Amino acid sequence: MTSLPLVVITGASSGIGAATARAFSAAGHPLLLIARRLAPMAALELPDAELVEADVTDTAAVSAALARAEERFGPVDLLVNNAGLMALSAVAEQDPALVQEQFDVNCVALVKNSQLVLPGMQQRGRGTIVNIGSIAGKQLYDNHVVYNGTKYAVHAMTEGLRRENAAHGVRVVLVAPGMVDTGLLGNTGEGDVLDGYNAYKKSIGGGLVPDDIAAAILTAYQQPQHVSFREIVVAPTSQDA
Ligand code: NDP
Repeated sequence: MTSLPLVVITGASSGIGAATARAFSAAGHPLLLIARRLAPMAALELPDAELVEADVTDTAAVSAALARAEERFGPVDLLVNNAGLMALSAVAEQDPALVQEQFDVNCVALVKNSQLVLPGMQQRGRGTIVNIGSIAGKQLYDNHVVYNGTKYAVHAMTEGLRRENAAHGVRVVLVAPGMVDTGLLGNTGEGDVLDGYNAYKKSIGGGLVPDDIAAAILTAYQQPQHVSFREIVVAPTSQDA
């Protein structure tokens, strides 16, 4: 069995989560990977990895997965709350189900899944939670009302959680990416909104690659436990919005 501690990554079937899984596996960590699609996680072919097909909003399923992984690999030392979705639209035209889902996945699940690991981390006096925010948690963009709302909430809750856990020796870190080439646009329907987003992205030479964000998460985690990178905003140099 490896001596490095367990790392849990939500939304590991694609994009930033999959890249983060590869990065931490290469660094020697055992993993618990959670997403609704099992096949892309299996395709990563990572050693010492528990792969769990679950919705992050299903707290009972996440809790059971965590218990199984901790039984196998020991206590979780890092939770990356990465699972998220973005559905861009004017609010008047937005599917109400997508309003609900963005808050449920991006915000509510992030807090409830953090609740599963915090008591143990506090007891051990160590551990790290990385929440994936966004540059859209710092500034407003057209057609981003709901997504902006979820990510502003992630930023606020991350800072609140950081304060709450500082005295316990537990780090809570915000990683806020700018544009990254992933599957994130898959929930924004065809049309002017999607075309505008893609046109801007093209005008700046494209987004970052998921490995760029994974490297930032790994760097923050690999600091000594008493060093907290509270907030990392990482975007293409050419991104001016
Ligand atoms: P992807 O769409 O490529 O990945 C999203 C991941 O979240 C997938 O693995 C998906 O897995 C998972 N996911 C979504 N809903 C659920 C759910 N209900 N339960 C479990 N897993 C879920 O996009 P990114 O990699 O870009 O997104 C990762 C994070 O990065 C998100 O929080 C996003 O908001 C953030 N971000 C992305 C930026 C970008 O430009 N790409 C910029 C700033 C922030 P599955 O479908 O298999 O469940």
